[in-house]
Amino acid sequence: MSEKYKLDNYKRPELQLPNNEDKLLLHSCCAPCSGEIIEAIAASNIKTTVYFYNPNIHPIDEYEIRKDENRRFCEKVGFECIDGDYDKDNWFERVKGLEDEPERGERCTKCFDMRFERSALFAHENGFNIFATTLGISRWKDMNQINDSGHRSAARYEDISFWDFNWRKDGGSSRMIEISKREHFYQQEYCGCVYSLRDTNRWRRQNNKDRIIRGVKFY
Ligand code: SF4
Repeated sequence: MSEKYKLDNYKRPELQLPNNEDKLLLHSCCAPCSGEIIEAIAASNIKTTVYFYNPNIHPIDEYEIRKDENRRFCEKVGFECIDGDYDKDNWFERVKGLEDEPERGERCTKCFDMRFERSALFAHENGFNIFATTLGISRWKDMNQINDSGHRSAARYEDISFWDFNWRKDGGSSRMIEISKREHFYQQEYCGCVYSLRDTNRWRRQNNKDRIIRGVKFY
């Protein structure tokens, strides 16, 4: 953790990695979801590298904003942040035929699988034995779907396991919002892919709400 970064009154019980592991690869989807988790890990002095790999995010300027916000907070805390590829063509290939699936359906399973398989590969190739993801802290997500995908991806390698810690408990969900407001993180209004943007705007239209204007809303 950066010497300049102060964790005042941090209250979550100290965390410990399973199996006495001494370092963690943390797949991160965005700054708002990762803020509380990064603070919890920093407060517990767990050596951590953040891995930003999210080729689902559309379009590219939205991807760049989310990545830069995430990197900004990592730098502030003193965590290394790895910039994974934006291999969106492979992402579109992977979810082909599932364009009209609802959120939390089969398209999301494929999306998680792709992101976690690459995280597991990076862990395997770079001396990590365990990885986790920030995705499960969001109440919009199905935690079982995320954990199943994480374990499935880890099982591809004998030396890798997935840490399915429940980040929502012990006040994690509310601190996620508190930290987002304190840090004035960019506030995305759809999950990430072009289909979630379409479906969120469709819902807004049906409920007499304005369309999403990307890139302008901050906590
Ligand atoms: S809705 Fe979110 S999790 Fe599901 S496919 Fe789109 S970006 Fe991935």
